[in-house]
Amino acid sequence: MLRTLLPRRAPARPLVTQFGAANTFGPSLGVSAGQRWRRGYASEADEKDLVIIGGGVAGYVAAIKAGQAGLKVACIEKRGSLGGTCLNVGCIPSKSLLNNSHLYHQILHDTKKRGIEVGDVQLNLQQFMKAKDQSVEGLTKGVEYLLKKNGAEYIKGAGAFADEHTVQINLNEGGERSVRGKNIFIATGSESTPFPGLTIDEKRVITSTGAIALEQVPKKMTVIGGGIIGLEMASVWSRLGSEVTVVEFLGQIGGPGMDAEIAKMTQKILAKQGLKFKLNTKVASGDVGSDAIDLKIEAAKGGKEESLDADVVLVAIGRRPYTAGLGLENVGLETDERGRLVIDHQYRTKIPHIRAIGDVTFGPMLAHKAEEEAVAAVEYVTKAYGHVNYGAIPSVMYTYPEVAWVGQNEAELKAAGVKYKVGTFPFSANSRAKTNLDTEGMVKFIADAQTDRILGIHIVGPNAGEMIAEGTLALEYGASTEDVGRTCHAHPTLAEAFKEAAMVCYDKAIHY
Ligand SMILES: Cc1cc2nc3c(=O)[nH]c(=O)nc-3n(C[C@H](O)[C@H](O)[C@H](O)COP(=O)(O)OP(=O)(O)OC[C@H]3O[C@@H](n4cnc5c(N)ncnc54)[C@H](O)[C@@H]3O)c2cc1C
Repeated sequence: MLRTLLPRRAPARPLVTQFGAANTFGPSLGVSAGQRWRRGYASEADEKDLVIIGGGVAGYVAAIKAGQAGLKVACIEKRGSLGGTCLNVGCIPSKSLLNNSHLYHQILHDTKKRGIEVGDVQLNLQQFMKAKDQSVEGLTKGVEYLLKKNGAEYIKGAGAFADEHTVQINLNEGGERSVRGKNIFIATGSESTPFPGLTIDEKRVITSTGAIALEQVPKKMTVIGGGIIGLEMASVWSRLGSEVTVVEFLGQIGGPGMDAEIAKMTQKILAKQGLKFKLNTKVASGDVGSDAIDLKIEAAKGGKEESLDADVVLVAIGRRPYTAGLGLENVGLETDERGRLVIDHQYRTKIPHIRAIGDVTFGPMLAHKAEEEAVAAVEYVTKAYGHVNYGAIPSVMYTYPEVAWVGQNEAELKAAGVKYKVGTFPFSANSRAKTNLDTEGMVKFIADAQTDRILGIHIVGPNAGEMIAEGTLALEYGASTEDVGRTCHAHPTLAEAFKEAAMVCYDKAIHY
């Protein structure tokens, strides 16, 4: 139906371009039969079915999906490259550093017992960073190609609302341009939350953006915040030789989503690797001296102050939605107390044709969540329905070993008064893990006590980040632990530990 109204990439289309306030015609292209031949703008070239502000994961995926659906779409990105935080300064560069620092650490500390004796091992930090930059460049260029391939226009510049249908763009190359969108998606993402009293210079007082680009290995590093990003970066620099201390306000690492038992086990493993932890501790103040940065820390509940000095301090206390310079005030859109754009279940703001997706709105700040929302939001525009199951969004911490989970943890279920049962299986009893001399960690299933339906799956262990995909699928399909336990898993694989943990939950394991 859509195609007949909007032929794909036709240059001069008899397209309806009169936007009405009641722009909620079914799939909200805002087209009604009576309007079909009216025009409302001076310049046809800059009229789009969909204008997306922000070319991060949420924005670029929406652009591709919209292009595939035959919409005339533009994606505005000010960074100079597509992919947003994830591809440029987040998921991708951090995983390059995690992968290669693990390799380096393994060569230094883990090959001898395997019968591999390595000579003089050197770290070439410049090349190490170059490898990361190459991955980033390849992927961001790849995304640019995908936009082109799907007929989505990529506009390099900073966009701001001029009115409810017009986005004014300060072009990166100089000059201005405006585009009008029948539908507009805000996908402007997030930024690191600053720490009061510490000025970020990205050299000595850094966010994750500085942490993926340090020019030398700091002798001592303090990480404020023991969440996923903090621990991933702490792992990288600790493996490369830094003495790293993590200061965390809460009583556990990994943030509140990580199951407490798994968090405890992970902390022990990371501590064995050399990371130091100060939990239930807060940073009271910081003094950036010419030689060192002196942090004053104390118990979270208050108490005696202690000094903690470091060459580099990483502020990793979370991220906050980013809407600066977007001109929200020009269209009367407001954010909530945490800076998030308020939306309904179809991602619509109070102005129905303006939607918000990704980090800039509710939900976990994760690339795959942003991607799911992008697809669903475009489908709401084109088909009036979309689907994201917020109960089945996996989380992964890419330390070594990895930690991954999906669904609910024990604390959440207890708080909700749900009766549950637990089944765990250690990798030390898994044949593949034993073969690989890589036996730390376990798989944990949590299931409804009566129905056996899976409520949560939590893994710390090698390849947990890949293994959790099976758990997510099981959760999505409403599987029981018996469903998983009776599914044949190849031998010898780490995934057999997954199956056996499920078996423990409804019956007994074979190998433990
Ligand atoms: C160090 C780090 C590691 C991470 N690792 C992972 C991971 O392993 N897995 C995972 O799932 N998530 C990870 N994340 C989170 C992930 O990066 C984000 O959830 C994801 O990038 C959100 O996508 P988004 O499109 O909503 O926002 P963003 O990726 O932030 O993109 C928003 C884009 O909008 C642009 N923009 C903003 N305002 C304007 C404007 N007015 N005009 C034009 N352009 C504008 C910005 O320049 C930016 O490029 C990590 C984040 C960090 C910082």
